[in-house]
Amino acid sequence: MRIFTAALATETNTFSPICVDRRAFEASLYAPPGEHPETPTLCSAPITVGRRLAAEHDFTLIEGTATWADPAGLVNRLTYEGLRDEILEQLRAALPVEAVVLGLHGAMVADGYEDTEGDFLARVRDIVGPDILVCAELDPHSHLTAKRLAAADFFVYFKEFPHTDFVDRAEDLWRIALDTLAGLVKPVMSVFDCRMIDVYPTSRDPMRSFVDKIMRMEAEDRDILSISVVHGFMAGDVPEMGTKMVVLTDNKPEKGAALARDLGLELFSKRGTFIMPQIDEKDAVSRAMTATSGPIVIADVWDNPGGGTAGDATVLLAELLAQGATDTAVGTIWDPMAVQICMAAGEGAKIQLRFGAKSAPGTGHPIDGIVEIIKLVRNAEMRFGESYAPFGDAAHIRLHGIDIILNSTRAQSFDPSLFSVMGIEPTSKKILVIKSTNHFYASFAPIAAEILYCSAGTPYPNNPARTPYRRAPRDIWPMVDNPHGAEQGTA
Ligand SMILES: [Zn+2]
Repeated sequence: MRIFTAALATETNTFSPICVDRRAFEASLYAPPGEHPETPTLCSAPITVGRRLAAEHDFTLIEGTATWADPAGLVNRLTYEGLRDEILEQLRAALPVEAVVLGLHGAMVADGYEDTEGDFLARVRDIVGPDILVCAELDPHSHLTAKRLAAADFFVYFKEFPHTDFVDRAEDLWRIALDTLAGLVKPVMSVFDCRMIDVYPTSRDPMRSFVDKIMRMEAEDRDILSISVVHGFMAGDVPEMGTKMVVLTDNKPEKGAALARDLGLELFSKRGTFIMPQIDEKDAVSRAMTATSGPIVIADVWDNPGGGTAGDATVLLAELLAQGATDTAVGTIWDPMAVQICMAAGEGAKIQLRFGAKSAPGTGHPIDGIVEIIKLVRNAEMRFGESYAPFGDAAHIRLHGIDIILNSTRAQSFDPSLFSVMGIEPTSKKILVIKSTNHFYASFAPIAAEILYCSAGTPYPNNPARTPYRRAPRDIWPMVDNPHGAEQGTA
């Protein structure tokens, strides 16, 4: 038995100014056939899990290219077409195969392709024909389109956000695929359109309980092969953006459709309650300044380069300056040009500098001032779990008693070591401002007296009711109150 596998993935914030070319894929992950490392990245676990199963179950795994670019803006058309055609050519060369098992993201948008995964899957289907199994693991921050559903046999999505379960879900994907090839099951997808868009962290209720419930259903009901919540991705301005419920049954489409509808309406009934409450920049700064102990960590949750933004918003910094905050450190503001100027001036220099807020509207205004250059570090890195995350050449500058780190490689604020490598002792500061939505929590919570989640400006299209969409649907919540009419969920 021969099975083909490959991975092609990124997450596209269509509002981000940071466009993605082939170099961006090569900088994150580009592994030609057979060269994928032993440990998986977010969207390439089908390859590493497939290797293990091929050895255990005695089938031949034919690896295609695996590639991933960190989340950012629109993908260059030639870059997408080149990577797509490279994998399709590998698939043609691998024929005949019994199955195609892919790692995708689901929210990639390329110039000229609003539904890249639909385009890719349809071409895979054309090559292998109607009878060969085609399946994929995807990120729930995805656009589930009719074209994808028509092209593939089934999908499995990560259940956890943060995405801690991408290996477990690759195991699910492969188990269902191998059972299908053995004739033990016949997977059928049933989909319900929740007609909403929201953000659903599974680290807190109500989503924690919802995910626990669907996992119990999977374990207890043999008709159910898998249940996925496709969260949707509000930063992707595409026609089929939105939350969908997918129930994969063993050839029980009516049961699957009823369950998808029940679960989808239950989710809809909880709309608006999933995300951590946030305060604006005025509240955040005044609460931090009046706190009696520190450090108070203010997370600038929406200017998170991990979500594809530039990471150069100055809204919070401007508020700190306006309220006269001192004993404060800001890490980081992305501005390669300002870093270059600081590098030329040298440590100890005091220079007139303009920095930040050059990438996009909604990020505030560039900050002007006489800054003191405290410390310069080439190829700076912060810790990130067991490894290191680079943030490029970086400058620690001081303006009106506020220490600010300017960086030249976009990176979210994973760890307090980003301050210490730049000569700032984070625990000695009253206020720390960082750019991250979720991932900062584990490493900053132990040193924080309090964490404030702050929504400052609009670096990210985080309010769908106000986002100037041109392509996304207008008849879903929160753009309209009650898109389900009389059916509105009360479960
Ligand atoms: Zn995601």
